[in-house]
Order: sequence, then structure tokens, then C-alpha cells
Amino acid sequence: MTARVVVVGAGYAGVGTINALQAEIEDEAEITWISEHDYHLVLHEVHRVIRDPSIASKITLPISDIKAPETEFVQSHVTEVDVDDRLVHMDGGDQIEYDYLLMAIGSQTAFYGIDGLREHAYELKGVEDARSIHGAVTEAAKEATLSSSAQVVVGGAGLSGIQAAGEIAEFRDEQRAPIDVTLVEGLDEVFPGNDPDLQSRLRSRLEGRDIGIETGEFISEVDDETVYLGGGNDEETETLPYDVLLWTGGITGPAELGDMNVDRDERSDRVVAESDFTTSDERVFALGDTALINQGDTVVPPTAQAAWRAADVAGENLARAIRDEPLDTWAHSDQGTAISVGENAVVHDVPGIPIETFGGLPARLIKKAIAARWIATASSVGRGISAFSDMWFSLTNVACVV
Ligand SMILES: Cc1cc2nc3c(=O)[nH]c(=O)nc-3n(C[C@H](O)[C@H](O)[C@H](O)COP(=O)(O)OP(=O)(O)OC[C@H]3O[C@@H](n4cnc5c(N)ncnc54)[C@H](O)[C@@H]3O)c2cc1C
Repeated sequence: MTARVVVVGAGYAGVGTINALQAEIEDEAEITWISEHDYHLVLHEVHRVIRDPSIASKITLPISDIKAPETEFVQSHVTEVDVDDRLVHMDGGDQIEYDYLLMAIGSQTAFYGIDGLREHAYELKGVEDARSIHGAVTEAAKEATLSSSAQVVVGGAGLSGIQAAGEIAEFRDEQRAPIDVTLVEGLDEVFPGNDPDLQSRLRSRLEGRDIGIETGEFISEVDDETVYLGGGNDEETETLPYDVLLWTGGITGPAELGDMNVDRDERSDRVVAESDFTTSDERVFALGDTALINQGDTVVPPTAQAAWRAADVAGENLARAIRDEPLDTWAHSDQGTAISVGENAVVHDVPGIPIETFGGLPARLIKKAIAARWIATASSVGRGISAFSDMWFSLTNVACVV
């Protein structure tokens, strides 16, 4: 009998899985691919759209360029999964049956119950979010004057917050707009939990772009014009007025999986998956930001890099499950970090590169080449090259870092 395999999500995890599965499967399975948009978004470059909305067309790849003719694509929003009846429910009451399901619908922004944050902050999880932030920053700049600058506050100094703040500063400088950008991080340093040398390079890049940095106090409350930092018992509350507030301070499991009967991590609400991407339901696999995968002492980080590399094995494992073969396990190994701060970038700890942390033109080119390499892998080399036409060295020489 032909197995029905359903893959949900068209991010790094979904695209990578589909590519691997399509390469593995002949006529033993029917593949249905569901996602809410008819494009793949290169999410790790979406912050560029804040500065220049025209970049959106370079980082969105049509599904038709990725899927094989035999794969059925359904553009819809999945609302719920019933693992007992093996049914995926979608907007409008449609449903699809599966024998094997792989959930790769990313994550959603975590607001941690901070008063007023969800209501007042922009989030950055897609192209439309980035366009809205562009619009809000542009409007705020129009109303500002040299003596009363627009205040843009970015909460969370992880990958998204740092890179978004960098783009807003670049926009300000290109437009010569009166904007103050402040990056707020509750922990003691930017890019928390990472190498101190990398943190200090990032801090100096950010300060060099005239981005104010506030670390060591968490956002405790937000109203329609002020961000409150710290506070509580004996602490002083610091206030930051804002015109535009962007919140990038954390992720949580997708709400659509709320009623799905598979084990989820209590803290992060992400689906608990093993290193072979199986979950507590034998027919359901999960990976990318949707899944929490514990490997020994570490948890696989929610990065494009990890999702992209894991997806190859996930696609193969779906094929193995269909054939009743033993599943392979995947081990995350960090391939380094490349972070942009506007047009500049910092690259750290890339295997095969003897200098541990560096910036300048090489870092800038590596950052762009990584995106181009992914685009080329996901769809076509031509698309990868045209996406970053200023990139001039061989894609194949660049390690799979993101
Ligand atoms: C601004 C920003 C900068 C980043 N920079 C980096 C970086 O430099 N390096 C790095 O490694 N990582 C970076 N990341 C993190 C990285 O983008 C994520 O870890 C990665 O996108 C996770 O891949 P994924 O496939 O799990 O999810 P996603 O890429 O989020 O894809 C999820 C897919 O599921 C679809 N979907 C969601 N919900 C539904 C639904 N209910 N029904 C149907 N379809 C649905 C979405 O439309 C999308 O196609 C960044 C993230 C952001 C936001």
C-alpha cells in the first residue's frame, strides 16, 4: 500500500525535509506538503527587509521551484493535529489524513506574560512583520526632528535582535533620519550564552553603529509610550520612552500544537523529539524550531543552521519509517556563527577557518554567501547567485554555517 506522508511547514526544516524525501522516495509514498505561504522565506535574512523592503523578493523562493511534480502542495494554515485519527486540520475545515506526519512549523514569539508587551511591540517572524517595522520606523522618523529624535527600542539581543537593530541603524544612516536605536537585553551581555570574544566584538560593532545598549535589566512592563526596565522589590525602575518597539526576546512552541497529543517541553512548549526526530507518537516526527531535541548535555539550538542540517536526516528517516527500516540519528555540531550588524558582520568559530573571530569584508561576504548557498541548495544556483549578486566567490567553498 502507498503510504501517505504529510510534511507541514516550508522553512529550513520543511524545505530540507521535502528535498531529502523527494530524493529518497519512488512510488512507495504520496507526499503532501502543507504550508501557509506559497513561498519559502529565508528567515535568517528577513531583518534586511526592515531597511529595504525590496529585498523581500530576493529571500522568498516560490514553492514551485522547490517541489517535485509528484509532490502535492497545499497552501493552508494548519489549525490542529489529531494524532488519534491521524488527521491534519486546516483553515476552512479542510483536513488531510496521514500515515506519517512531520511537523516543521517553526515557533512563535514568547512574550513571557510581560504586561503590555504583546499589545505594543512588533515581532519579527516573517516578511509582513519586517515590512510593518519598516513602515513604523519610516513614519516615526518623519515625525521626528533633530532635537527630538524618534526612539526605536529593540528588546532581546540574540540573533534576531542584534541583526534587526543593525538594519534600523543602517536605515537611519542611509536616510540621515533622526532616530535613536536602543538594544535592550535582560542578561548581562549581548548575544547571551555565547563566546565572550564574540560578544565583545558584537558590542563594539553595535556601539560603532551608534546603537545604545542596555544590558542587565529585564523589561518588566510596557505601556503605549514607555518601556519599563527592572523594578520589583527594592530595585529602581528605569524607563525608556519609545516610538517603535520591536520584541525579539524569545520563542515558544506554536499555539496550533496546543491540543496535539504529543509530549511537549513544559518550559518552552516545543514538541519533545529524539535525535531521529520521532516524538511520543510513533507516526509523528518534528524538527526545526518546532522541536526540542536534547542531545546529552545540550539542547539543539533553534537556528536555521541546525534546522537545515537536521532536515537531510529527517527526510531520510521518513523514508526509512515507511519501509520499516531502522532510523538514523543526527548529532548537532555547531558550524560557527555569522551575524550581521547592518552591512558589517562578525563571523566566529567556523570549522576550517584558522582565525576564530573576524569581521571586515571576509565576514560580510561569508554572511551573504551563506544565504546564497542556502537559496541555491533549496531551489537553484541561478536564484542563489542573483539573490546576492555582489557576492563574488565560489558558493561551494563556504561551510554550512548560518
Ligand atoms: C530576524 C531573524 C534572524 C535570524 N538570524 C539567524 C541567523 O543568523 N542564523 C541562524 O542560524 N538562525 C537565525 N534565525 C533563526 C532561524 O531563522 C530559525 O531558527 C529557523 O527559521 C527555523 O527554521 P524552521 O524551518 O524550524 O522554521 P521557520 O523557518 O520559521 O519555518 C516555519 C514554516 O512553517 C510555516 N508555518 C508556520 N505555522 C504554520 C501553520 N500553522 N500552518 C502551515 N504552515 C505554517 C511558515 O510559514 C514557515 O514556512 C533568525 C531568525 C530571525 C527571526
